[in-house]
Amino acid sequence: MTQPYVGRFAPSPSGPLHFGSLIAAVGSYLQARAQGGRWLVRIEDIDPPREMAGASTLILRTLERYGLHWDGEVMFQSQRHQRYDEVIEQLYQSGDLYWCRCTRREIADAGGFYPGTCRTLALSASGCAARLRQSHPVYHFDDALQGRIEVAPRLAEEDFIIRRRDGLYAYNLAVVIDDMDSGITEVVRGADLLEPTVRQIALYQRLGAPVPDWVHLPLALQPDGNKLSKQNHAPALPDHEVERHLLAALAFLGHPAPIELHGANAAEILAWGAANWQLSRVPRQQTGYQPA
Ligand code: GLU
Repeated sequence: MTQPYVGRFAPSPSGPLHFGSLIAAVGSYLQARAQGGRWLVRIEDIDPPREMAGASTLILRTLERYGLHWDGEVMFQSQRHQRYDEVIEQLYQSGDLYWCRCTRREIADAGGFYPGTCRTLALSASGCAARLRQSHPVYHFDDALQGRIEVAPRLAEEDFIIRRRDGLYAYNLAVVIDDMDSGITEVVRGADLLEPTVRQIALYQRLGAPVPDWVHLPLALQPDGNKLSKQNHAPALPDHEVERHLLAALAFLGHPAPIELHGANAAEILAWGAANWQLSRVPRQQTGYQPA
């Protein structure tokens, strides 16, 4: 029997959702619902300095407003620190983690990639970052939409940070532990996260956990070619004209709705999307941003 599908959407509360996040939300939602699967939501609030007060509530309200109803309880990374520490200890005990005192400046001077300076120094945790010892680097993986993805050896082999010197947990650590603990079978997210995927796979392997499948969706770009993002001040999704934005997201994902759907409500649009969803229709390449 095949495993039941579990997908997720994992926004960071650094600002409200925008059209780019809607694409990841709708794409992951439809990929799950089309297979009768569960769709979970996780708020990735592990980096307080980059968070916007009230953004988590705003994001969840927007998802509901857009008819994107999730299963179960929302997971908050800010409530998972004990679990992250437990895994850090486990990796330390298995020899897969070491402590590093190098500064960002020293690494930049060494050419931008960490050269393994502290690998054999057996430093203790205090004032140090934790790095994963890349004894089995992952150089490529197969993405269900983008095909085979190969990364530069330097990137694959770097002993990357899993907890920062300032004590904050790294995205690569938290995302793997949470997806693993939530039983996520397929990760569907934006193509800006293609490269870190090899690091995440290396971490799954060190933890002896099954690696999920991967789908990296095309990114919405601004007319200047930059990714639509909070950093680029992408406009927040409005509370009105929800249907128009949902139809634009579907069209962006290669599923232009038939004329009968114009005038339909959010639930009807998403139901049509789930019934008609085919990953093979989603464009691979990054295409321009079509404002709704
Ligand atoms: N929190 C990340 C973001 O908002 C997404 C992480 C993921 O889907 O793995 O860009």
